[in-house]
Amino acid sequence: MQDLHTSLLNESPETASTDRLSLMESRLPAMMELASNCRLCPRKCGVDRTADELGTCVIPFGPVYSSANLHFGEEPPISGFRGSGTIFLTGCNLMCDFCQNFPISHLRHGNPTTTTELARQMLELQEYGAHNINLVTPTHQAAALYETLLIAFKRGLNIPVVYNCGGYESLEVLQLWDGIVDIYMPDAKYGRDEPASRLSNAPDYVHHNRMALKEMHRQVGVLQTDDRGVALSGLLIRHLVLPGDYSGSEEVFRFIADELSPDTYISLMSQYFPAWRALEHPVLSRKVSRDEYRRAMEALERCGLSNGWIQPF
Ligand code: SF4
Repeated sequence: MQDLHTSLLNESPETASTDRLSLMESRLPAMMELASNCRLCPRKCGVDRTADELGTCVIPFGPVYSSANLHFGEEPPISGFRGSGTIFLTGCNLMCDFCQNFPISHLRHGNPTTTTELARQMLELQEYGAHNINLVTPTHQAAALYETLLIAFKRGLNIPVVYNCGGYESLEVLQLWDGIVDIYMPDAKYGRDEPASRLSNAPDYVHHNRMALKEMHRQVGVLQTDDRGVALSGLLIRHLVLPGDYSGSEEVFRFIADELSPDTYISLMSQYFPAWRALEHPVLSRKVSRDEYRRAMEALERCGLSNGWIQPF
């Protein structure tokens, strides 16, 4: 797939767009089939999302979104100098007690729209100069977004697509994004099963996260930027350090270094604050200590991962 991806970048926008379009058109029925007996994420609820039945994520077919704006607060190659065309999707397939984005993910603040209207907004963001279309929390709305992007590509969208997800992904769905998504920006939230089960109600998070990271790396490889430092393609993994090492930082980094590549770009984040239900938790009800964050940075170094960004403490 790397070869196809590279060739897509090298071809004229018209040809690349045609290739993407035919890929998407041929795969759309498979994506709709996954939505109609919902297996869009590892929870496999089996509800018919195309008929707006609700599963664990409590979102109809979609799209349902909270905002679509130029965003300058992402990692430098994603925000670039003109901003990232960021679309915050409503809801989430994870149930993190400490969700840092709970008004949109858990309280589901947002508005239903149509695929045509959201495609129009993508094109508007491109016109405003966005470096990319950044789909935040897309997993549970993958089928609606597939339809949306198909419309947008047909109407001339030609900037990179960023899949900015929680990392609890279905391999079947990711395979349908192969050659469509340019930049994967997943979380690697946990390195151990017990915290994933207790804090996100996802006992199999680590397994699915690792399969997903491998697949994303296979599809797009290490992050590539242009000569201005703006991302063109590749993988960028986010890791939010949690108090009490619930995030299992060393286990996460060891896996990435050994099974993906030591060149993988990591965004290490110190910004955790007790939100949503975290205040009821004995350890999560505080911020990360300086010492805990230092240990995560040391683990990153021990694993030989030197590409990426370390958020200041
Ligand atoms: S996307 Fe939602 S409905 Fe579908 S399997 Fe996941 S949680 Fe269930």
